[in-house]
Amino acid sequence: MNRLNNLFLVLTASYFLFFSPDLLGENALKYTLEYLPNSGKVTLEIQFDPLDAGDVRLIIPRSAPGTYSLINYLAFTADIRALTTRGTELEGSLGDGSYFIFPAEHTQLSKLYYTVDVKRMEAQILDASMSSKARDNYLGLFGYSIFGFIEGQENKPIELSIQTDPEWPIFSTLAPSESRKYGRATFEVPDYALLADAQFLLGNAVAVLEVPDAPIPLYVATYSETPISPEEIGRRGKVALENLKAYFGYVPMPHYTMVYEFVKPVSDRHDYGFNMEHLNSMTANRDVSRPINAYDPDANITSIVHHMGHSWLPLRSFGAGYRPFDWQIAPLIETIWLNEGFIWYITTIPILKNERMLNWFQANLDQAPAFIKNKTLRELSLLGSTQYAQDFRIGKNLFSRGALMAYEMDVYIREQTEGKKSFRDALLGLLEWTNANQRAFNYEEIEPILSGAAGVNLTAIWSRWQQPMNH
Ligand SMILES: [Zn+2]
Repeated sequence: MNRLNNLFLVLTASYFLFFSPDLLGENALKYTLEYLPNSGKVTLEIQFDPLDAGDVRLIIPRSAPGTYSLINYLAFTADIRALTTRGTELEGSLGDGSYFIFPAEHTQLSKLYYTVDVKRMEAQILDASMSSKARDNYLGLFGYSIFGFIEGQENKPIELSIQTDPEWPIFSTLAPSESRKYGRATFEVPDYALLADAQFLLGNAVAVLEVPDAPIPLYVATYSETPISPEEIGRRGKVALENLKAYFGYVPMPHYTMVYEFVKPVSDRHDYGFNMEHLNSMTANRDVSRPINAYDPDANITSIVHHMGHSWLPLRSFGAGYRPFDWQIAPLIETIWLNEGFIWYITTIPILKNERMLNWFQANLDQAPAFIKNKTLRELSLLGSTQYAQDFRIGKNLFSRGALMAYEMDVYIREQTEGKKSFRDALLGLLEWTNANQRAFNYEEIEPILSGAAGVNLTAIWSRWQQPMNH
């Protein structure tokens, strides 16, 4: 990309900024994110209709759907200030939770500012799948690790403007495209949850590829410190997506982005093993020792199928606590075994036909310590709500119990219906139920929905899996 082209793109971006009609109306919150290349720190501004200072709480998320983890993003937030309607500045002070307050009487506020130290976040959060990254010519952001919100305003539409060096391209999973805007880009989202769910990749070191002939627009966005093949990542992603489409019979995502990072580890205590799912994207955080750099028809695509599968469940059908999400805490969730186990089951058995995985699920249960075995399914899920991967024996037990329950249901449904129905019908019932009801399902509703959709009474299998393992 040469300078002339850059200038053209900057002018194009400005045109849309100044002349596009305000689709979101007067009600929208205006967020601005600024990044000076290689500074390691982002600056945020939130503009809103004037509020009494005493009513303003700036919430910084402490968790996000699917992380099953408590993360102190607040620790990387600094320089919290507010602008009053009289044009004076107030300093924010820390509340007794993950939020800032602005103690002042008879004053109205209309803007907040703060900074986030991404470099320090990356150094201090050992699980790479929970942290944003700032490297040379690269900034990779998880929405929830950067964007705060004003308590009570989380359902308002947001117009986000990103501003950076005129030579830096900007990519977001909100509106993926091979042709990126340079230096400045705007995005509109209907609420805070969708802003938090999105990822943003800035800088010259980011490569974007659209995978040809995929069932929906499918993109690969990469940042790597070792040679890789985005084409091969895309090929594997397309195979995974085609398999999921064949299983479910439809694809609910309007588009999908595979974000892959291959980075030099910050330290040998940093963990680059976990991936993260979002509504229309997945993020794989790898270290440079595991590059994907060559065509391999036998490559293991379990992880890709699994994370894409989350776009059906739980991202579009979920139990209480998952959505709407209590951002200030890591909420208690009773259905992690379903979110993870049901997707592990369909990924490995009906889709990839890897029957040996059933032995692995069983071994995870057999080898579990007593403090895991003696918990009911619900109790173990509540425990996993904050410690799913911190002690991964908890996570493995949760998805193994869920996967083996799904397997038993699948076998039983096939037997009872002489092969006319399967676990797939039960799962589709769950997705249809959410579509019709537009809310999270309660624990007691799950088994009747599954049984109803399969046309087979699953109560006995359900009840047995609710018990502790050493029952
Ligand atoms: Zn998962």
